[in-house]
Amino acid sequence: MTICYFNGAFVPSDQARIGVDSGLAGRGLGAFEGIRAYWNEADEALYVFRLREHMERLERSAKVLFVALPADVDTLCEITVELLRRNDFCTDVHLRPLAYKASEEITSKILVLSEQADGFAISATPLGRYLSSDGGLSCMVSSWRRTADNAIPARAKITGNYVNSALAKTEAVMNGFDEAIFLTEAGLVAECSAQNLFLVRGQTLVTPATSMPILEGITRSTIMTLAQEQIGLDVRVRDVARSELYDADEVFLTGSGSEVKPIVSIDHRPIGEGKPGPIASRLTKVYEAVARGQTPEYAAWCTKVPPLAAEPKGAVAG
Ligand code: PMP
Repeated sequence: MTICYFNGAFVPSDQARIGVDSGLAGRGLGAFEGIRAYWNEADEALYVFRLREHMERLERSAKVLFVALPADVDTLCEITVELLRRNDFCTDVHLRPLAYKASEEITSKILVLSEQADGFAISATPLGRYLSSDGGLSCMVSSWRRTADNAIPARAKITGNYVNSALAKTEAVMNGFDEAIFLTEAGLVAECSAQNLFLVRGQTLVTPATSMPILEGITRSTIMTLAQEQIGLDVRVRDVARSELYDADEVFLTGSGSEVKPIVSIDHRPIGEGKPGPIASRLTKVYEAVARGQTPEYAAWCTKVPPLAAEPKGAVAG
């Protein structure tokens, strides 16, 4: 069984339980992250990808919900590394920090965020490929709209927001597609159920702006950097109309869990030649090497987990 960090202690994951009457279970009041750690065979070490950026986003999401985190970002990173060290994983891992409303009393204040007690957990499980894309993904534009910023902000990674994602993903899968593409209420392209979206036109990469109702993806930012620095693409952040997707040379999605995946058809229309395009394929490879800690230039994005035999460090020592 894996070890989980739960409200101040490292415990077997079957002991990390959250009450049925908590704000999290009853009302979707939690902020969370999805982070990957990659096993690097050559180094025989696990590397967490962009850990600090994920914890910083967790801090920003938690702020929206008035959830106080138990520690600062540096300490949360140390706790995460220590959790991985104790689990002694020798494979790719998915990590889920969760900051949530823990109060279980049913009072007239259950919807007053500032009056609720907070909880914090980090769980970790081995996870290989998450979204299979042999030959590329098929997508549909969802009949569900992305939640507007002044309804539930998509910028914050809030558990309740994933009702919107689940409705769209379910509709897509039940209709025979792999993934859903959300439009905004105004009809512009937003993102997928749990991934950001890019399109390629010649040597230009285009993605919706963060003023749209989208999550400010860490993979999105990684890909924007790698596309410029490693492939020399021109990256533009702007509004994207639905029909621009059909006209694009390539479309692909990005996410920590999903990584970089080419989309080969949208609403039954082939994208480009209807197979993974050269730019998405190249970015997939570049991303994989960077995330696994195999590209020295971007080593600062990868946090190495010390082996189980090493002493724990920093705030979690002792
Ligand atoms: N949008 C949504 C709605 C998501 O859930 C995710 C996954 N966290 C993303 C985009 C991609 O974000 P990231 O690259 O930071 O994982």
